[in-house]
Amino acid sequence: MDAPHHAGFVALAGLPNAGKSTLLNSLLKFKLSIVSPKPQTTRHRILGILEGEGFQACFLDTPGLLSEAKDPLQKALRVEASRALREDADLIVYLVDAAEADPAKAEAPALRDGAPVLLVLNKCDRPASEERLKALEAAYAERLKPAKVLRISALKGQGVEELKAEILARLPENPPFYEKGQLSDRWERFFASEIVREQVFDLYHDEIPHATAVVVDTFREHGQGRPDEVFATLYVERDGQKGILIGKGGQDLKRLTDRARAALENFLGRDVELEIWVKVRKDWRKDPRALKEFGYTS
Ligand code: GDP
Ligand code: MG
Repeated sequence: MDAPHHAGFVALAGLPNAGKSTLLNSLLKFKLSIVSPKPQTTRHRILGILEGEGFQACFLDTPGLLSEAKDPLQKALRVEASRALREDADLIVYLVDAAEADPAKAEAPALRDGAPVLLVLNKCDRPASEERLKALEAAYAERLKPAKVLRISALKGQGVEELKAEILARLPENPPFYEKGQLSDRWERFFASEIVREQVFDLYHDEIPHATAVVVDTFREHGQGRPDEVFATLYVERDGQKGILIGKGGQDLKRLTDRARAALENFLGRDVELEIWVKVRKDWRKDPRALKEFGYTS
């Protein structure tokens, strides 16, 4: 008989900015989830799959658990994140920013009963006293009752292999959940929208990135050496924001399009024709219909 196969869902949890997306990318050795220094970049649950002979680990990159949900968008994000932690996860990797987190404010979300927790202090490439790290470990260990505590740097890859081994060792016995060889169950269309959104986060400031939703209206793959055609719309909440996105004479939108096209070509490994429009959808973050249309709620 063949050796048993192991597979499971692994939730990456922790406050916004703890480094969850960076860790996922490092584990997968592939830039799948978008990473940004601004909190709340991750609006969707992204599934990345790490697999090999006899195992398949399916990662859920949860949007950071916001302590207060201010509007319907934030509420939708919270529901999505806590569902991953309470219902879907076989294993929880809880990340703490070792450089910034305050041991006195250690909080823990509700987790699925029986799902083991790996407590991971991330950003250990940044200076932090042993005393501080110990205090953080103790504060979180009390709340999370972790099966194991690790120190890593997701950014530099330090400790990531050890973490990977700990994860694989705890995957339950299951057949593969997804056809082997699929890196993700999301469509290229979805990644295209995330790539455009990442550029919005890079190029614009203040309220703009948070007020922008990206919808990919068309994704046509022609093959035979012809570039893919991608048409996307950026939805903002007010006319003023539209003006800022487009810029004087359209120069800012052009810069955004050029950068997003380059990133998309790099991701897909083929040429892309990209066009981006900007439209106003008044107060979309408060509009349940818009949230559904833009794919934030089901
Ligand atoms: P998320 O909100 O938890 O998904 O966090 P991200 O993965 O988007 O990371 C937030 C910020 O922290 C980004 O600027 C990352 O480059 C940075 N970061 C993540 N991991 C590390 C790390 O190990 N060391 C350092 N110095 N920075 C990191
Ligand atoms: Mg993230």
